[in-house]
Amino acid sequence: MKKNDRIVLTIEDMGSEGEGIGKADGFPFFIKDALIGDVVEAGIMKLKKNYGYARLLRVLKPSPDRVPPLCPLHQKCGGCQIQALSYEKQLEFKEKKVKNNLIRLGGIPEEKLLACMEPIIGMEEPYHYRNKAQFPVGTDREGKLITGFYAGRTHQIIPNTDCCLGVSENKEILEEILVFLEKYHISAYDETTGGGLVRHILLRKGFHTGELMVCLILNGRKLPHGQELAERLSRIPGMTSITINVNEKHTNVIMGEEILPLWGKTYITDSIGGIRYQISPLSFYQVNPVQTERLYETALEFAGLKGTETVWDLYCGIGTISLFLAQKAKQVYGVEIVPQAIVDAGRNGELNGIENVRFFVGKAEDVLAGVYERREEGRKDRDKGRDGKEEKLEKCGLEGKGSGDNEPEKCGDERDRMRRPEVIVVDPPRKGCDKVCLETMLKMRPEKIVYVSCDSATLARDLKVLMEGGYDLMRARAVDMFPGTVHTECVVGIQRKHI
Ligand code: SAH
Repeated sequence: MKKNDRIVLTIEDMGSEGEGIGKADGFPFFIKDALIGDVVEAGIMKLKKNYGYARLLRVLKPSPDRVPPLCPLHQKCGGCQIQALSYEKQLEFKEKKVKNNLIRLGGIPEEKLLACMEPIIGMEEPYHYRNKAQFPVGTDREGKLITGFYAGRTHQIIPNTDCCLGVSENKEILEEILVFLEKYHISAYDETTGGGLVRHILLRKGFHTGELMVCLILNGRKLPHGQELAERLSRIPGMTSITINVNEKHTNVIMGEEILPLWGKTYITDSIGGIRYQISPLSFYQVNPVQTERLYETALEFAGLKGTETVWDLYCGIGTISLFLAQKAKQVYGVEIVPQAIVDAGRNGELNGIENVRFFVGKAEDVLAGVYERREEGRKDRDKGRDGKEEKLEKCGLEGKGSGDNEPEKCGDERDRMRRPEVIVVDPPRKGCDKVCLETMLKMRPEKIVYVSCDSATLARDLKVLMEGGYDLMRARAVDMFPGTVHTECVVGIQRKHI
């Protein structure tokens, strides 16, 4: 076999990125867009020692699990990898991926995992679920302005204003913006030269409130005739916030740090499970509100709170999980690295009249270790005969936002409770938890740890550390937040072993 040879194979498995896997003469090939059960003709692209890559040329016999996808661009666009697979099989694939990672990378015995793992929670309607979309702006070969999505693994824009994962309003908003940009000959940002103005368009919708947000990410501070665009967009029912985000850096990072108001508020409001949240353009907010409610309910259920507990919510974003937990806990402490998200979190606490929560800005690993270690140092100092009261005051230096009470006597007690939480919830980004964060969690010895994860590989890696540190797997459940794609969210509850 060599490059460009044509092969015929039956797809028997799927890789972690949704590629079909089949064998030709016993040699395995990865083929993008081929599904389990398909018989396909493919052209060899690359041969490695033990496997190869081939390009799908024709589906000779379609898999019984193939369905007509809603989006005609699904193979070109990098957003959806498995839209042509029936939703039932998508769920099966995701569940299997989580299980495999927990067994292989997490070292959890298969029987143990099967006994703890509950069925994946899927959606009734697996389209139009996203409340957020970020559309890059560019030009096509004729120099016409376009917006859409990047093709897989490239920065080539596939024009599309009507993604079927997003809300129906996106199309009208994007087309209004494109017409406006053409009218005033406003240029798209050019990644290669660093010139041009408009980089991305961020759109958000509050599913419960119907509020709409438009944020134009500019390679500059001013949109010429911006008020005219704002006036046009403001006529769209639900429009609540139109802003500019300034990003003059020559990098791949989408958003800059500064938000300038153009029309209306600088945030929108939405609610999950009866709790209201204010969301600014820079804040992280889960993209699938229907499934988010199920995800948070799962986290709350696994935490098994009775109302007496002190709980940490690490990587708390705008305090979504924290406020959910606060309804059932005595006191919740949230930690988040993005300062603006913590401003939102504090405001969200007030908005809902929830007083038993405090938020800290910083890296989860630093804040947690700071709380744990400083108290230890404090103890040592006191043993040396230092004034306890002064020490307590000094140790209250961490700046918390929310209903924190920094009176010295209470503060010392609070420090103790902070160091000995009953439950720690973590919801880190894809790279998982920092090593120091895991180590400090183990030192704090909470009764339960609830790990919410969007990447089951890093989840498995971190669970291994925690379980080796004296914890036992209790429950695990995947929640499908991203139908049509290979991604899934997962919640795992572990409990401290009492020896
Ligand atoms: N629990 C929230 C957010 C989860 S996303 C929710 O469900 O909405 C992960 C969050 O972790 C993001 O808000 C990100 O800004 C934050 N983050 C990333 N690295 C961090 C770190 N080292 N310490 C604390 N927060 C971090």
